[in-house]
Amino acid sequence: MRRFHIKQQLQEGSLMIDDAALTHQVRAVLRMKPDDEIALFTGGEALGWDFRFRISRITDRVVSGRVLERIKNEREPRVHVTLFQSLIKKDKLEFIFEKCTEVGVSAFVPVVSERSIKKGVHQERAEKITKEASEQSGRALAPDIQPIVTFAEAVAAAKNAGGLTIVAHEKETRRSLDAAPPASRQVSLFVGPEGGFSEKEITLVRNAGFFIVSLSRRVLRAETAAIVGSYAVLSRFGS
Ligand code: SAH
Repeated sequence: MRRFHIKQQLQEGSLMIDDAALTHQVRAVLRMKPDDEIALFTGGEALGWDFRFRISRITDRVVSGRVLERIKNEREPRVHVTLFQSLIKKDKLEFIFEKCTEVGVSAFVPVVSERSIKKGVHQERAEKITKEASEQSGRALAPDIQPIVTFAEAVAAAKNAGGLTIVAHEKETRRSLDAAPPASRQVSLFVGPEGGFSEKEITLVRNAGFFIVSLSRRVLRAETAAIVGSYAVLSRFGS
């Protein structure tokens, strides 16, 4: 069933959805008709629930119908993964936002590191990407995209978040994720830019007590490392 995130609060009963993008999608793209069903989800009190919705009427502006039932969403990972991703080219960064949302990352922190391509983040487009990836992949929420931070700020934020911090580093040859200590609820994952982390940065994270790992014997592209690294962390600590 097609799923849509909406801003309105949800409960069983009749509902008029006032959302131009959703109306356009339902009407013009999916060409849905009365009696077709979609699933809706939102944050707030209804976070963690999907609502089965039967359409009764579609106009130019709104979709009306009934919420038939609410179904518990069981697709959120048990462990909260924050991906501290060094800035890379915008299209590749957006690819990471999309794929890592599907995989199960809960928050993204873009990081300016020494060898970053300083292109920034198109916040509005990035949020649209994570929203659509959440809808598609069945997640109960769209991950947060936090403001860009410096490398030092990222280290401090990861320390503050508690839990375990993993740093993916292609020059690490001995330690893999298998050797990481157990983590309960929070894991932070650092992935570098195309040029990799500098020695200074590696010293900084080592001094912070973070766990530096190899993800592969091959050298991966940053976006590949972000995707497989997130997957590896989730499958190790609670997908
Ligand atoms: N420029 C470097 C590669 C950097 S790859 C070189 O050519 O040697 C970009 C980022 O992906 C790295 O900073 C690291 O975080 C991650 N990465 C790539 N391959 C990895 C591997 N085998 N193990 C762990 N991390 C890896």
